[in-house]
Amino acid sequence: MTAKTRLFVDQPLAEGNCVSVSQAQAHYLFGVMRLAVGGAVSLFNGKDGEWRCEILEAGKRKGVLRCTVQTKPLQMPPDLWLCFAPIKKTRTDFIVEKATEMGASKICPVQTEFTNSERIKQERLQAHAVEAAEQCGGTYVPEVIALSKLSTMLDHWPEERQIMFCDETELGVASSLASASRGPWAILIGPEGGFSPAERKRLHSMPEAHVVSLGPRILRADTAAVAAMTIWQAALGDWV
Ligand code: SAH
Repeated sequence: MTAKTRLFVDQPLAEGNCVSVSQAQAHYLFGVMRLAVGGAVSLFNGKDGEWRCEILEAGKRKGVLRCTVQTKPLQMPPDLWLCFAPIKKTRTDFIVEKATEMGASKICPVQTEFTNSERIKQERLQAHAVEAAEQCGGTYVPEVIALSKLSTMLDHWPEERQIMFCDETELGVASSLASASRGPWAILIGPEGGFSPAERKRLHSMPEAHVVSLGPRILRADTAAVAAMTIWQAALGDWV
């Protein structure tokens, strides 16, 4: 059974393996959660599933746990990238957190012509993905890749990967995902300023792109990301 407390560790997990936790994790487990030697914690590393572990050492700055039994196998999400133009800090954090919970396999911040921010804190965003996986019971953590230009990304686009292109200007002509095929996909969400005419033209001409409307109201990018992932998961993902 999964223990109440779940943590991500970057170490191999297998029966009998001893795992040491970081200083921050030791503080959380033994200081905040008041767990002690003999107690149980669930660990996952994104590769080996989830393991119930017994606490062997509970120090102020250090802790050692031993894997006893696997409580979940590795559950991979569908092959779905979430590509989005970063917005304000807390809203970008929100997108990463929700993408992890909703089951994205990779999180790709893209710089579009009208993108508000030119930099992202990749490590900080990755930490949000880890935290979201810890909280939602996931055994996989999507990688948050470095910010790349949309134009460069499209230059090297893998032709087998279909794109759910969320275009708020295309009301009424939006195609349905119901007739689309499964396989590798990417969702593309624009910045507050939307896509530039050139970007829209390019995307509309790509055979991989399926233009999708998210309804008659203009959603904020963070809302759009969650709405798009919901629709995709329900039509083509692991909800069906
Ligand atoms: N430029 C727009 C707002 C962009 S909203 C304006 O100010 O008028 C940010 C992104 O969310 C868009 O680029 C699009 O990818 C997505 N989005 C928001 N509402 C949408 C809708 N109704 N249909 C499809 N995509 C939408």
